Amino acid sequence: MTRFLARSFAAAFLLLACTGTFLLSQEKLPSFVIAGAQLADGTGAPLRAASVRVAGGKIVQIGEFAAAQGERVIDGKGLVLAPGFIDMHNHSAEGIAEDPLAESQIAQGITTVILGPDGDSPWPVGAWLEARRKNPAALNLATLVGHEPVRRAVMGQDYKRAATPEEIAKMAALVEQGMREGAIGFSSGLEYEVGSYSSTDEVVALAQAAARHGGFYETHIRDEADKAFDALREEIAIAERAHIPVEHSHIKLGTVAVWGKAPGYIRVIEEARQRGVDFLADCYPYDAWHSTIKVLVPDKQYENPQSVEKALADVGGASHVTITGFPPNPAYENRTIAELAGARGISPVAMFIRIIREGDAANSDAAVIGQSMIESDLHAFYQQPWVMVASDGGIGMHHPRGAGTFPRVLGLFVREKHWLTLPEAVRKMTALPAQRLGWKDRGVLREGAAADLVLFNPGTVIDRATFAKPFELPAGIEKVFVAGELVWDAGKPTDARPGRVLPN
Ligand SMILES: [Zn+2]
Repeated sequence: MTRFLARSFAAAFLLLACTGTFLLSQEKLPSFVIAGAQLADGTGAPLRAASVRVAGGKIVQIGEFAAAQGERVIDGKGLVLAPGFIDMHNHSAEGIAEDPLAESQIAQGITTVILGPDGDSPWPVGAWLEARRKNPAALNLATLVGHEPVRRAVMGQDYKRAATPEEIAKMAALVEQGMREGAIGFSSGLEYEVGSYSSTDEVVALAQAAARHGGFYETHIRDEADKAFDALREEIAIAERAHIPVEHSHIKLGTVAVWGKAPGYIRVIEEARQRGVDFLADCYPYDAWHSTIKVLVPDKQYENPQSVEKALADVGGASHVTITGFPPNPAYENRTIAELAGARGISPVAMFIRIIREGDAANSDAAVIGQSMIESDLHAFYQQPWVMVASDGGIGMHHPRGAGTFPRVLGLFVREKHWLTLPEAVRKMTALPAQRLGWKDRGVLREGAAADLVLFNPGTVIDRATFAKPFELPAGIEKVFVAGELVWDAGKPTDARPGRVLPN
């Protein structure tokens, strides 16, 4: 988390040398009309033809009307106009400081990113948000307060154990501090190194701290593999005990043992929802995940050949695991563990252990892609009205979801596979995340709502990022507006940076 601190201070110093020229007054921008488009208004209602007038950063009129004399008109013929997409799980907290235009994000139609997921947030929250206000991005952002920085702040390097009640109380106070400083909820990554040592009671106490300030609980649960059902039940128990709305991150069933069990998983969630648990989930549209090599081995016996052998078998074999980033030995990058082992004449298990040892020596775990989900589970999750689209991506992500998620759903799942209607897919990108956030004026096309808008071509919209070329920008996203300002036009950013820190 020190990296966030360092960047925050660097940004603050830079700004002392600049003037706040980025903060254009929205009120002074002239009104304009988007005419001729079909509206997907975010609610899931059928497409309808209407004109939309924008002024002062807001939608001021929707209906059948003509532009005033001299008023700018944007031709939406053949296009769909939707609320800007809200990405509930985005890892651009570091990238946005260096790349505030966020080209790979606005190119997908994303107008708001929720940062700090998986327990990994900027810290301290207030200083970081202040730096973002002074150096705005092209899109809006909000952040969660993460479990990892507060756990590290209280326990230091001695985090590989359950926390004491005193430590939990200190962490809860820090979560409250983060919420007061502008965070919108609490996130955990219970499968990751720091968070995985926490007890359920600890997480309940921290979720309660967020709930006291109106926050929600976003979680990467303890296990998305063989023990995915146990981890789901723990998550539901945390939500019930803390009386907090819960957002289940990147819902998936990631090992051979649980493949095909989505219907049972959904049943557990439906039962909780019927008991009154406010449970929503998000799902990225890929059958492969991106994480660190260590998440493959849930018992943490990274150098035990039996544990490693099971880990590789669980995801369908060493050919299903690709190293994407490994600074200690870049020669491993973009190769599967099967390929690396074959080239060296050693077993995949021995290769895995070699990568672990080299990583530990350099204090740097390999980043990997694991191709370990199946399409029928993905399809079942996408059918649920409480499952939204989120990328788990972000600026610079070495997984195609970082640059492809939203256009992929619109092109592949809507147009090609007919998994979803277009209005329902748009709802999963707009009103449903806004519901989780409690935001009434975003995620919907309505008079008085924020003019965060995306104009796309439903016949051509598609992702182009692949595992080999993860940064390829999508096609078919024609124009993107944030607070009524055009940020993406005809295939490139406009350089405008009207993004705000939300919800304020
Ligand atoms: Zn995660």
